Amino acid sequence: GKFVYFFSAGRTEGGAGDKKLLGGKGANLAEMTTLGIPVPPGFTISTEVCTYYYANGNKYPADLQAQIDKGIAELEAAIGKKFGDKANPLLVSVRSGAPVSMPGMMDTILNLGLNDETVAGLIASTGNARFAYDSYRRFIQMYGNVVLGLKHHDFEHILDGLKKSKGVTEDLALDAEDLKKLIAEYKVEVKAKIGRDFPQSPKEQLMGAIDAVFASWMNDRAITYRKLNNISEALGTAVNVQSMVFGNMGDDCGTGVAFTRNPANGERKFYGEFLMNAQGEDVVAGIRTPLSIEKLGEKMPEALKELHSYADKLEHHYKDMQDIEFTIERSKLYMLQTRSGKRTAFAAIRTAVEMVDEKLIDEKAALKRIDASTLPSLLAKIFDEKEKKEVLAKGLVVATGLPAGPGAASGKIALTAEKAVEWAEKGVKSILVRVETSPEDISGMHSSEGILTARGGMTSHAAVVARGMNKPCIVGCSALEVDYKTGTVEFNSGTAKAVKMKEGDHISIDGFTGQVLNASLNTIPSELEQVFVTKTLPMEKSLLAQQYARIMQWSDQYSRLKVRTNADTPEDAAVARSYGAMGIGLCRTEHMFFAEERIAAMREMILSSSLEEREKALAKLLPYQRADFKGIFSAMEGLAVTVRLLDPPLHEFLPHEEAQIEELAKAFGKTSQYVHKKMDDLKEFNPMLGHRGCRLGVTYPEITAMQTRAIIEAAAELLKEGKKVFPEIMVPLVGHFKELANQAKVIRETADAVMKEKGIKVEYALGTMIEVPRAAVTADEIAEHAEFFSFGTNDLTQMTSGFSRDDSEHYLPYYIEKGIYPQNPFQVFDWEGVGKLVEIAIEKGRKTNPKIKLGVCGEHGGDPASIGYCHRVGLDYVSCSPYRVPIARLAAAQAAL
Ligand code: PEP
Ligand code: MG
Repeated sequence: GKFVYFFSAGRTEGGAGDKKLLGGKGANLAEMTTLGIPVPPGFTISTEVCTYYYANGNKYPADLQAQIDKGIAELEAAIGKKFGDKANPLLVSVRSGAPVSMPGMMDTILNLGLNDETVAGLIASTGNARFAYDSYRRFIQMYGNVVLGLKHHDFEHILDGLKKSKGVTEDLALDAEDLKKLIAEYKVEVKAKIGRDFPQSPKEQLMGAIDAVFASWMNDRAITYRKLNNISEALGTAVNVQSMVFGNMGDDCGTGVAFTRNPANGERKFYGEFLMNAQGEDVVAGIRTPLSIEKLGEKMPEALKELHSYADKLEHHYKDMQDIEFTIERSKLYMLQTRSGKRTAFAAIRTAVEMVDEKLIDEKAALKRIDASTLPSLLAKIFDEKEKKEVLAKGLVVATGLPAGPGAASGKIALTAEKAVEWAEKGVKSILVRVETSPEDISGMHSSEGILTARGGMTSHAAVVARGMNKPCIVGCSALEVDYKTGTVEFNSGTAKAVKMKEGDHISIDGFTGQVLNASLNTIPSELEQVFVTKTLPMEKSLLAQQYARIMQWSDQYSRLKVRTNADTPEDAAVARSYGAMGIGLCRTEHMFFAEERIAAMREMILSSSLEEREKALAKLLPYQRADFKGIFSAMEGLAVTVRLLDPPLHEFLPHEEAQIEELAKAFGKTSQYVHKKMDDLKEFNPMLGHRGCRLGVTYPEITAMQTRAIIEAAAELLKEGKKVFPEIMVPLVGHFKELANQAKVIRETADAVMKEKGIKVEYALGTMIEVPRAAVTADEIAEHAEFFSFGTNDLTQMTSGFSRDDSEHYLPYYIEKGIYPQNPFQVFDWEGVGKLVEIAIEKGRKTNPKIKLGVCGEHGGDPASIGYCHRVGLDYVSCSPYRVPIARLAAAQAAL
């Protein structure tokens, strides 16, 4: 087979369409080369090699070596340098490149090909001994670390020792002779640690580096990143071997990264940062804080102009915002990477809408561009403008860093990931404050409200990861010093503005502006919430709301699935409606019984020992229920509302403390012994499989009758007021058609009686949840008694897989880690397993009742991937929590495109 794909101005073997084979980086390097953009030539070893490597006990295909040798020979011919040449050596970088971008997660090796002899060649060809030795010592360090398994520290401490002995603090103060000495010491260290010499053969170096990249696909960082981002392990990585260009040869050199539009807010403005006289990873790694790209114009106006032109060309070619990496070697610009730029949801909305207006893409492409799972950040909290102004006026801004992740957050300063995790478990809000973050900090980043780092740019680890998590984040806050030992931080140390704080102190960060505030600010609803929900901000004043509204309008236009909401109160219903909910798919009535004045009547009902007693208690509950439904039906006027009859086991409503029990007994004229006996009777070993759902209604039909009466009476009263209401009554936990038939009889008889009393006809639908496996496989029988099915995928997942909804998080993470389940099946629907039952139920249900309406109301109704599934199997609607309605609308459209 073919495993090595070459790219150079003369001959290029791949293109942008080959991402799966060549990885994103390799495919785009090839594409840029074809576009005539200056890219240092090289070759890509395909992802098929990675797959082969892991399938065959870390071995390579037999003819790989020969193909690599041929690649090197072609590279030598293309640039006129030879690998291992003593006069003018070819040097290469070796980088990973997966089909899906995994920024900063894999290892990179630069300057490969240097050894004791070729370093002399590099001096001869560049006339710069310091540069050559510095490149060699960096190479030994990087290779020693990534390939040979030495620690960063093993080298750093030799370097520190040398600086100390010379009485200097900066690397730049070391001259060529010093670096030469350093190289000798590094080599001694390598030999001491691994028992053999640092490899001198460039070919051996190359194979070692290739091994390391393939091995890095399975390192902890990469595994964590894939898990957090739902990236399949099966994809594998490609390896890019590319001739080196140097951004660190002197003051006419530099390196940087840029976005064709602002990745935080989407503004159409070239956006980037760079470092002069620096190599490759310096910008990305966030070790030095880079300069903004406009400054490049002051230093090298020609290079900036050229960069602009390539950026434009690439954006037009890919028709998407690009994230590019470049290096300038002796004033000549090279492009090292282009990829579609990661962006916040704000930027995604703005770029998508504006690119449609610019006629770069059409509406459908615009919808596909937006990652539905990032939309919650649009609804993320912000600071109250007025309160913030006051804080600003008081001069409480202690520093400003780079706004790397939008959103406002405040909490206690946590200096370690462990602290943030510990506090989160106790419900204490924290801001994770670090010099910089590394992959080990990921759990702490998850647990904190926001992240603040002293170092790093918009593309640093902290920035990239925080944006992925939708967390407010500020990086590159150079006024910040962190002292982990004393548990303190200091802003503007040594100046008049110096502020010292300690772990546990309250701090606020504004991820939109980069401001760090020495204050505990309140956070308030997002701009969209203000426009659509609280209506405190007029639409004309919000570009975001206008653009968001267009995205939502296009979404509804292209989607087939309807989006309803799960709401139990008029308030929730109203929020969901303002985000575009097209009805209520699940109104859980049990929540209505917890309010103080109702729980007494509910308990009375539970404690009753006769039908008569029970009916008396239910009569007390009736007016509450009727009022609840009137409120909800009114909030959803004109739209359907599915009301589910009481679902949980009755013991959930009883008190647990002795004092309360005695009080309860007294109130109902029973002995506390009686109450205890009743509670014992209700106790179940497995309440989830217990006396709940329609089983309650079957044993106590008067409960069903009361709820039905409340629903129909509420509807009747509203109809008389001229309001349009469409109640749907849903029976939970049905497993046998006779259960539904039994309940349907009660419902129909009660509804008929109420309509007769009220003298008005109420159109209502009667349906059931499909959440018990038996219901799914006998759906044909059940459908004869139901006008709609709503899949309760929470219970259906629990009962089909046998995983408890409430405590499976103890072991499910291991299942996911071991690849047994790709994701938590309670979050992302398990269509391979549980889905089979859904498909059977759809087929059987439609067979006996072709007009049956089908939806989902489990948590999966708000998950983009699961919504895709719901579309594919032909459901009519999904129902999700109010704040997920926008996500679901977009995901429904994406599923249809
Ligand atoms: C379900 O089981 O999926 C469902 C929606 O009902 P609940 O979560 O209330 O059990
Ligand atoms: Mg359920």
